[in-house]
Amino acid sequence: MEGKRTEFVMYSGLHTIGGVNASITYGKDRVLFECGLAYDPSLDVYDGAVLRRDENWVRDQLKLGILPRIPGIYRRQDLGDDPLESAEESSLNTAVFVTHLHLDHMAFMGMIAPEVPVYLHHNAQCIERALEATGQGVQTLARSYEDIVPGVPVHVGEIEVLPILCRDTSYYDFAFFITTPDGTFHWTGDLCLHGTQAEKTLSQMEFVKSRQVDVLLCDCTSFMDSVMRMMYGTMDASVIKPSPDVPQGMLTEEQYYDGLFEQVKNRRGLCVFNYYQREMDDAERFLQWAADTGRVCVFEPDAAYIVWKFFKVRPYVYLPDTQPYTLPSEQWPEWLQQLAAHAQIVTREEIWQNPAGYLLQNSYPHILELFSLPCEQAVYLHADGIPIGEFDPAYANMRRIVQRAGFAYVTFFCENYFGHGYPCQVKYFVDEVDPKVLIPCHSYNPERLLPNTGRQLLPEIYRTYILKDHQLTEGE
Ligand SMILES: [Zn+2]
Repeated sequence: MEGKRTEFVMYSGLHTIGGVNASITYGKDRVLFECGLAYDPSLDVYDGAVLRRDENWVRDQLKLGILPRIPGIYRRQDLGDDPLESAEESSLNTAVFVTHLHLDHMAFMGMIAPEVPVYLHHNAQCIERALEATGQGVQTLARSYEDIVPGVPVHVGEIEVLPILCRDTSYYDFAFFITTPDGTFHWTGDLCLHGTQAEKTLSQMEFVKSRQVDVLLCDCTSFMDSVMRMMYGTMDASVIKPSPDVPQGMLTEEQYYDGLFEQVKNRRGLCVFNYYQREMDDAERFLQWAADTGRVCVFEPDAAYIVWKFFKVRPYVYLPDTQPYTLPSEQWPEWLQQLAAHAQIVTREEIWQNPAGYLLQNSYPHILELFSLPCEQAVYLHADGIPIGEFDPAYANMRRIVQRAGFAYVTFFCENYFGHGYPCQVKYFVDEVDPKVLIPCHSYNPERLLPNTGRQLLPEIYRTYILKDHQLTEGE
């Protein structure tokens, strides 16, 4: 068609862990991928003391520079007098696509005007709804989500988005292969080659390679200083040799979980774990480990609510000594009353009678519960829950409280395990795919990931790039 061209804009996520938000436009059609916010608790304006405002919920976050200034996605009533184009004013036919249910990929999906479709796998929708019911979901308008079906392309005018499955459990994980009449883009989402489903990422790689992709946006989180230091002892990326294998001394996902399970198996006291409550893979593992070791797996109410909704099982629930759980049950919020009718309460006294009979979930807000629990031969397993690591100021506080409560502290995270693909594996993926243009992103140090024969591009944020005849060039 005369006059139509493919435009690419990256709004954020180049030099941050997550928050990769970009658009591909062809004529009047536009695909946005992701609506996430970079995760950096040390810089979080909402530090626990500053309150979020209601009417100004979108405007405040635009002023703070938290939300990207993407035209045509927010409602005019939320933008107020901000000159940014609203969804109502936009002439574009826009659809938004989310790879998976991590906040750095979907934190502001609830702020997008309800008439703009947002695509999200139905398992992720189920978990998000459960999180919203207990007040742990994203800030949101009343809106619905469109389903993503693995391998089934979605057409937005002449743009095609192919969701490639990376993980088929919990909320599901995808990568997106996007085609316009001018060429192709691929966004890896979170890239992992040492996971229990690594073969899916390898077949993703083979597929993208076979299509000779024009522009590859690749997660290279692990190229940051701490991982480079841990693995190579240098920041010089030229030491990274491409390899699909897990590097010497580092763990696969399976080995990582085996290590945690050993702690549960060999422990003669109470086992407490702190995990990321939306990870239904992990919830399933803890339930299984409890069954395998003759323990009862017990969750806090909000975590139990997700487990109940997702697995349709009757969970065991521990009530922390805080509101609303300390209120008479008639005054409980509706979600808690519903949960209580489908769950079994486990009391502190029951845990004291047989500490080794329980595997108990504990979240950071309720960490003081440790003081009311038996610490003899007990362990606190830090299993990727918040606060995740030393980059979070709350991490030292968590460690102090665990120590004061007399629990042994066990973690493998950030010591010889990392959740994203190890540098040599990411380099292998990129070399095999061999894109014409590589945009390394989702990383503090994207410049360290170099392509094999193509060109590395660190795009200027908000700048329009043109894809024409499979060549990406800077717009005027
Ligand atoms: Zn991510």
